[in-house]
Amino acid sequence: MAIATTSPLTGEVLERFDELTPEQLEDKLARAAAAAATYRLTSAAERAGWLQHAAERLEKEIESVSQMITTEMGKTFRAAEEEVVKCVHGLRFYATEGPAFLRDLDRDAERVGAKQTFVTYQPIGVVLAVMPWNLPLWQAMRFAAPALMAGNVGLLKHASNVPRCALYLEELFRDAGFPGDVFQTLLISSGRVEQVLRDPRVAAATLTGSEPAGRSVAAIAGDEIKKVVLELGGSDPFIVMPSTNLDRASDVAVKARCLNNGQSCINGKRFFVHQDIADEFIAMFVAKMGALVVGDPMDADTDVGPLATESGRRDVESYVDDAVGKGATALVGGERPDRPGWFYPPTVLTGVTPDMRMYHEEVFGPVAQVWAVPSLEEALWEANGHPYGLGSNLWSEDEAERELFVRDVQSGMAFINGNTTSYPEIPFGGVKRSGYGRELSDLGMREFMNAKTVWIGQDA
Ligand code: NAP
Repeated sequence: MAIATTSPLTGEVLERFDELTPEQLEDKLARAAAAAATYRLTSAAERAGWLQHAAERLEKEIESVSQMITTEMGKTFRAAEEEVVKCVHGLRFYATEGPAFLRDLDRDAERVGAKQTFVTYQPIGVVLAVMPWNLPLWQAMRFAAPALMAGNVGLLKHASNVPRCALYLEELFRDAGFPGDVFQTLLISSGRVEQVLRDPRVAAATLTGSEPAGRSVAAIAGDEIKKVVLELGGSDPFIVMPSTNLDRASDVAVKARCLNNGQSCINGKRFFVHQDIADEFIAMFVAKMGALVVGDPMDADTDVGPLATESGRRDVESYVDDAVGKGATALVGGERPDRPGWFYPPTVLTGVTPDMRMYHEEVFGPVAQVWAVPSLEEALWEANGHPYGLGSNLWSEDEAERELFVRDVQSGMAFINGNTTSYPEIPFGGVKRSGYGRELSDLGMREFMNAKTVWIGQDA
């Protein structure tokens, strides 16, 4: 895939970027290794100060950065602003809370015959981050802020369609005062990730993206015995029970499915509605999905912009065509509009069955699958039958149902009566084919740290 900024609104290539030459890549790797040798010895207070500077600058540039995001990948300007604000918050969170996450943890010395024993968290060095385009700033930031706070050095291989965002991040951290080269962007194709990950100067990798990309990076990391965190696909269940407020649940269902133009790993994608309220809920959901304004993502009135890439739109279309061709029904949407740009309308499908591809895979666009179910147990059985296990959502006022959901749902995150989202304060990640490891919070920061056990015996 060529590295370029292409407008999803018009299909026009706005800017092309040269890939790094082999010599330039070698230079970047050498610089990263040199930076890691000294950056690890900086204090937590210094790193926190640089993170604060980055937050201050980003806060001043919210408008221009949001515009850059919308131009490169088509999300609405409003959604882009929310993303940038979240990045500012993420930077501040690690600047203020990060030093506490780095504190040594005392253990019981007496029980192990020591004068003192503790765990000390130390950076592991250069970490490669392979990132997707869908939240081009936030996905990279939720790696970068904790990594830099931890004393690690970052190399960002961003998705090939968001090079402006990728280069902006490098500039942001450099201008915030971080010592040179602690965060560098590599403009390379995905075919060169292997070379970087196998390089002995690189200690670990994190990948947010599709299952095939995750499988490939995990295999290389396994071969090299390097730590890897994988944040992969999702087809999150959204379960609606009769005790909930249907108006509110259907409002959030629309948001859950169409947030980010329907291109988020944690979009609600499979909707299981109790049969007693299914007709009422589905009617509300379909009406609200159909009422969304699809259009220019820079317009304040637009709810859903174009999909980010032409191939992404083709994929969504082929999933819907496959399902409808095999008997599913589109209650709204289901056909690409006749207009320029990579648009796909908010779509609700019923009658999706296991012989259809979307039943088992992930549709990365505003397409919801809805089923009526006789009970929560049945909804959970269906939800858990999927290969993915990223987020999950329940709408219920019933305590027993909530408890069952929390205990039984096979997902990395369980949200009740609120839309699934990410916060720097709490861990983010999945199980099963959604990947492993956690991002955000103290857990995310410690994924790329050496938890070094220190044992000090009695003096002679
Ligand atoms: P993608 O095609 O896997 O791309 C993601 C990144 O991986 C890009 O930088 C891409 O580079 C690179 N890449 C692709 N194939 C690779 C390979 N074989 N080896 C090494 N690197 C490779 O995914 P996407 O289409 O951009 O993003 C959509 C997917 O990401 C969805 O499945 C979504 O659910 C998932 N996602 C997951 C999370 C999460 O937190 N769990 C968050 C967001 C998105 P190029 O662009 O150069 O190909």
